[in-house]
Amino acid sequence: MTKDEKEKKIKRLRQQISRCERCSLHKTRTNTVPGEGDVNARILFIGEAPGRNEDLQGKPFVGRAGNVFDKLLSSVKLTRDQIYLCNILKCRPPDNRNPLPAEIKACIGSLDIQIKTVNPDVIGTLGSFATAYIFEKFDLPAQKISAVHGKVFDVSTAFGPKRIVPLYHPAVATYNGGQLGVLLKDFGVFRKFI
Ligand code: URA
Repeated sequence: MTKDEKEKKIKRLRQQISRCERCSLHKTRTNTVPGEGDVNARILFIGEAPGRNEDLQGKPFVGRAGNVFDKLLSSVKLTRDQIYLCNILKCRPPDNRNPLPAEIKACIGSLDIQIKTVNPDVIGTLGSFATAYIFEKFDLPAQKISAVHGKVFDVSTAFGPKRIVPLYHPAVATYNGGQLGVLLKDFGVFRKFI
């Protein structure tokens, strides 16, 4: 797919997401948060779901977890315009509760289209929800995030080989400062993919 074709596809998807009423989260959202970045990025990151600031601005990772994420990116000299960044859910769950299985089921088709369209070499999963989904999608045995964070998993897919890098969610560093060191260390693996 050319860059132009990818951009058209992602634009159509964003429009579909903005009108989506497939689960009840549409009733409480301010904005949908489809995701953003370079459609030709080699690295795609997947978070969990928009929080309050993301819901207000329609952009992923613009709150406190976003500050941590930006620190992680800059630690490996990456910028947001070099990556693609999206979430499992495109609408905010009330009070930032965990995504429900039915919400993931209703929403996940959009993430599948994003992965297929961007077709990155490397997928960084931020937190246990993104890790669980991507491990299942690419037939890796389910594992706790504490056992796999910072490791690299090579998988072959219908659209080429991919590397999966599970990471703790950046929000952990907002309530446990000690975790920033673990995240920074794990994030170091991206240096060899740039
Ligand atoms: N947490 C997420 O998982 N995604 C966001 O976009 C913001 C916070």
